[in-house]
Amino acid sequence: MSTDLLPPQERTPPQDEAFTTPADAALGAEAAHRTLPWPETAVEPVQVRWRYAIGIPLVHLLACLALVPYFFSWTGVALAVAGLYVFGTLGINLCYHRLLTHQGFVAPKWLEHALAVLGVCTLQDTPACWVAMHRIHHKHSDERPDPHSPLVNFLWGHCGWLMFQNRDFLNVNYYSRYTRDLLRDPFYMKLERGGNWLWLYLASMVVFFLAGLAVGWPLWGAAAGLQLGLSWLVWGVFVRTVVTWHITWSVNSVTHVWGYRNYDTGDNSRNNILVGLWSNGEGWHNNHHADQRAAAHGHRWWEFDVTWITIRALEKLGLVRDVVRPRAWTKG
Ligand SMILES: [Zn+2]
Ligand SMILES: [Zn+2]
Repeated sequence: MSTDLLPPQERTPPQDEAFTTPADAALGAEAAHRTLPWPETAVEPVQVRWRYAIGIPLVHLLACLALVPYFFSWTGVALAVAGLYVFGTLGINLCYHRLLTHQGFVAPKWLEHALAVLGVCTLQDTPACWVAMHRIHHKHSDERPDPHSPLVNFLWGHCGWLMFQNRDFLNVNYYSRYTRDLLRDPFYMKLERGGNWLWLYLASMVVFFLAGLAVGWPLWGAAAGLQLGLSWLVWGVFVRTVVTWHITWSVNSVTHVWGYRNYDTGDNSRNNILVGLWSNGEGWHNNHHADQRAAAHGHRWWEFDVTWITIRALEKLGLVRDVVRPRAWTKG
């Protein structure tokens, strides 16, 4: 298995300094009272990013089908809940964020790619685009170039920023400069080509529908099979996608406004207990801004971090290595 591990010389971990906002206690204390204009990179005059401005409300509408009794099943609900962990925690928290963006540990390529596919199935753009966005966020946290600071306004930080064109994210040619380490891997380049990542999401919709059909039809007949397939699609894909979005978005918005601070970072990042719990660990966001490569975001014993527990389990199983611990742990 270790033969699959990418040789260390092929990985170029981002320099901490490059993605770290310098500590500035005074600025941190004042940050909550500042307001920011839109990023300079927002295209002028304003251009709506139609793919998102239509796609995001559309998936919300499809998720609302869950309110129609025809689409309800307890197995669908179970798939939605399990999907929050499988796609949100493993795909986004563990892979897109802690592995690909911050390189907090090393995974064999087959595992890294499989986890990245789970991330793609949350419809949060390609790994390279997500990583670029997040690296810019860390480099300029709560300053004007930050793509999604809630100091512009809360809704902007939550999801408004996705609806407008930003020069940094027009296409891979623009954001590749932030993600050269990732895009050297042809797998990530392939996801960028021809909307391949969107086809993967559509394929996951088909898989959920067909799985429900395949289970329900032999047991209860064609009509009930069709109903179960549609239920799994609505709950297992649409509801789960929307909830995963709001969990991720709440890390960008809520944890840069409300919560407590363990560290005087130069930004407005906070540890928010509610977000920490519902995001499976990403809400200990002030800890994360203070020590970005650390694979654990909960630094105190009670800052519960399911994503970190998962990384520890993978480490014990020998599936990942070189796991970066928080400096606060290793110092003391
Ligand atoms: Zn942040
Ligand atoms: Zn981060």
